[in-house]
Order: sequence, then structure tokens, then C-alpha cells
Amino acid sequence: MTARTASCRCGQLRATAKGDPVRVSVCHCLACQKRTGSAFSAQLRWPAECVHIEGRSKKWTRTADSGQTCTYHFCPDCGSTVHYRGGNFPDLIAIPMGAFDDPYIAWPDYSVWEQRKHEWVEILGQDVEHID
Ligand SMILES: [Zn+2]
Ligand SMILES: [Zn+2]
Repeated sequence: MTARTASCRCGQLRATAKGDPVRVSVCHCLACQKRTGSAFSAQLRWPAECVHIEGRSKKWTRTADSGQTCTYHFCPDCGSTVHYRGGNFPDLIAIPMGAFDDPYIAWPDYSVWEQRKHEWVEILGQDVEHID
């Protein structure tokens, strides 16, 4: 079974996921823009039991307008978020796509919060589902 390892910038916090992700998405919401410092986020999700985590992390829990919470784990040294969990998918662990060293890792299946999408951004892919 394929195992893929994600890591923070300094490398001490790592998450290894076994098997294929069950959901691959990009998100244009303002919270994801703030988290990444980019125009949108890209993430892969696996069932929690498929993810093994090593290293030290700090965590921060955000409560969305919906009342749902999501807890983000980031490296206390370099600040990269390496895994998070909550929101609509409490049984899945999300790992930012950029934390993997593989530019071919996956195409997104979903592009969500497009009402917040920067107008120069276009998410390509035949099967991608665009959601406001
Ligand atoms: Zn780090
Ligand atoms: Zn988002």
C-alpha cells in the first residue's frame, strides 16, 4: 500500500498517510487564505486510522460561523500546519497538499467556497465539482 509523508518546513513534524486519499479539495474561504497565506488552500483527507503522526506540534481550534470546530496542528518551530481535523469531516484527517514533496500527488475533486475565489484563479480538471 502506498504511504506518503508530509512534513513541515523544518522537517520535525511529519504525517504519513497510508493508501489513497478519500477526498482531495481546494478551498477559497477566507480562513484557509489566512492559514496558508495564499489565495486558496489545497488538502487531501484520509480516515484518521490511516494517518501516523510524528513530531511536536502546537494546536489551535477555530470555530466556524456554523459552530463547527476544526483543530489545526502546526510546528512550534517553523509554523507550518501539517494536519488538521474537524468541520464537515470529523473522522478524516486533512493534510495540506504542499506539505508533500510531490507535485503530481493528486488533482482536486472539489473546489469549495468559490464565492471567495480570487478572480484570477481557475481550478482545472474534468471531474472537479465547483461549490459556492
Ligand atoms: Zn517545522
Ligand atoms: Zn477553507
